[in-house]
Formats: sequence, structure tokens, C-alpha cells
Amino acid sequence: MTTKISIVHIEDYKNIQEAIIKGIELIEDDFKFKLQDLSNILLKPNLLRATEDACTQPSFVEGVLSYLTKKGIDMKNVSIGDSPGQIKTTASKIAKKIGLYEVAEKKGVKFVDFEKEVPIHETIDDAIVLKDYYVSKPVKDCDLLINLPKLKTHGEATITGAIKNYWGIIPGGLKAKFHLLGKTPAQFGDALADNYAWVIQNKPFRLTVYDLEKVMYGSMGPVSGAMKEWNLLLVGTDELALDVVALAIGKFKGLNYVPHLKSANRRNLGIGNLEDIEIVGISLEEAKKIAPKFKMPRKSMTKFASLITGRIVYKVTKKVPIMTEKKCKKCGMCAEICPAHAIDFIEDTFPEFNMKECISCLCCLEVCPHQAIKTKARGFKGLFYSY
Ligand code: SF4
Ligand code: SF4
Repeated sequence: MTTKISIVHIEDYKNIQEAIIKGIELIEDDFKFKLQDLSNILLKPNLLRATEDACTQPSFVEGVLSYLTKKGIDMKNVSIGDSPGQIKTTASKIAKKIGLYEVAEKKGVKFVDFEKEVPIHETIDDAIVLKDYYVSKPVKDCDLLINLPKLKTHGEATITGAIKNYWGIIPGGLKAKFHLLGKTPAQFGDALADNYAWVIQNKPFRLTVYDLEKVMYGSMGPVSGAMKEWNLLLVGTDELALDVVALAIGKFKGLNYVPHLKSANRRNLGIGNLEDIEIVGISLEEAKKIAPKFKMPRKSMTKFASLITGRIVYKVTKKVPIMTEKKCKKCGMCAEICPAHAIDFIEDTFPEFNMKECISCLCCLEVCPHQAIKTKARGFKGLFYSY
């Protein structure tokens, strides 16, 4: 099995959109899908925090939308969405702060917050960690998933890129629960690869446009590490191969250093061997000359980060719903929508929330017609729960 990846040198940032269109056109003959037959195309950028360095650039997303427009795709069939899993923010709030929302409005594309809809309970064949899995409805429903990652170092996962960007398809606070199932870097790597396995098993039509214009280095990734210019972009349909090529451009040998790439490669979830990857556009050797050497976080650091986040941070910051009896009208809508069946409701009584079963999707809050449900971080008592 082989796959094709294009590498494009962004020689002048002003022409970034042309570079993106060129990168996609270099591989479009190999697409398994016909764009014109699709009616629900979803773009999934990396929206982590409201700083431009931490996110896929709005100009990148705009370049992909320009390509779709060039191919005659009706923008009514296209949406952009993500779920950052932070306590106090949403993807649309981040998009507004970095100028991405404006791009969506200008192009007539709707923006979706993945956690606003009831998550879908799914099964992942041969899952190692995520045996009880939920995915966002907009992702479940789309017929083409366009992945728009950015290469950054990552305190827990070593890097975030083409495979790790899919972690955002898990809605909202549910990510915290899944993080807690991966207590060591290796387990978290298996969880990330499980999530990627769901994508492969359920989304045969995919495209990745990989932002390597500026790459995040060092131990402060993925939020505030130092940025280095690579002035490159990659386009392909095999995410493992894309991550392998990105690391090779950064002169970093050995995908086994990155637990989720190691897990995905071991499970044949993509192409992990450079010899099976056909490069078009500029050559790998040319790209290596353009990009400075990539620096990964040390293993001791990722172990420490996993320990802290897995044992403490997610447990303490997990968002839980709190109901105010004064406002509640006992309608039962929260219990009806709860995908985890964590709310018991008997007519004419107040609903009872079972925090052990709650997956922090916050659908109950969205659906309550009387604003009787709020959220709060669980705080230090969360340390006594298993997740
Ligand atoms: S949806 Fe709101 S008002 Fe209705 S039972 Fe639940 S908390 Fe009460
Ligand atoms: S109780 Fe609310 S937040 Fe928890 S799983 Fe049910 S709907 Fe989601």
C-alpha cells in the first residue's frame, strides 16, 4: 500500500491561499471521493486557545474554502467546527478572537461548536483504551472530513499534528474523561490511536491540509512554545504518513518516540514507512533544507505532564452540571437528552444527577428551557473520583 503527499514551499505568505490550492491539486487525482457528490463537508481546524500560534491559521482555513469554491462546491454544504475542551471557552469564541469566525461569515460557511449537540455513542473495533466512546454529532454526520492540523510540541502527547488533531472530535468535557483513561504517555498514545481508529473505520473520505508555516517547539507546547518558521504545507489523505513526513522534514528520526504514532503504526492504522510514501511538489530533501531541526519535549517531561494532568488537573477541572431547584420546573427534558443516562427523573420531582455516570457533555445545560442548570469545575473533591 502507498499514499501520496504533496509538499509546498510557501515562498511568500501573501500567496498562502494559492499555495494551499496548489498543494491540494497536486494530489486530487488520487481522491477516493468526488467533491461534487458530497453534501456535508466539515473542516476541523486546531482551535486550542485564543492565540494565533496555538491555532490553525484563519488564512489556512480560507485557502481550503477557496479551493472548494474553485471546484464549484456550494458553501451551504460546508461547515467549520471544533471542540477545545477548555473549562470556559468554546471553539466559536476562539474563532472570533483569532479572526476565523469572520472568515466563515465572509465565505457563507456555518461555524459549529461540537459540544452543542448530543454526542453519539459509538464502538471502535479493537479499541485498547476507549472502549466506551462518544463522538460529536457534526463529525458523525459529515461525508468528508477535512483535517487542518498544525505541528506543535505537546507536553503529554509529545507532538500534536495530523492524528492528534482528531482528539477535538470528542465533544467538550468528555475529553477530560478519556484523558484520564490514559494515565501514562503510552496509554494516552493508545487512546489517541483508538480515536484515530474510529476515524479510519467511519470516515473513508478524508483530506488533511497540514499547517507547517510556523511550527511550535519546546516544552511549552501546544499553547505557548517558541515558534519557528518552516514556510511549508503538506496535503494528503493518510494522517500517519503525514505525521511521519512532518517529522522527517524536521530531521527527527523514529516515529516510535511519539506514543500515538507508535501505537497507530503497530496497529496498521496508516502508512508509517517513508518508503511507501510518494512525495510530490518539492522533494523531502528540499523541504529538510528549508526547515530548521525540530526539537521534541524530553520523555521525562511528557511522563511528568501525564502524571500531573492524569492524576490531578483533569479530575479537578472536570466540569459538572449543577441544578438550581428554584428555577427547575420539573419538565424532565435534561433526563431525556442525557446520553449517559446519568439523570434520574420521576414525574413531578426534581431530576437527580448521578455524577459517577456523567460524561460532562453538558447537553442538559443546553437543553434546559429554564436555565436551571449551570456548570462548575469539580474542584479538589474530584481527586477522590476515578475520573
Ligand atoms: S430541564 Fe431544567 S427545568 Fe427541566 S427538569 Fe431538567 S433542570 Fe429542571
Ligand atoms: S448529566 Fe448532563 S453533563 Fe452529565 S452526561 Fe448527562 S447531559 Fe451530559
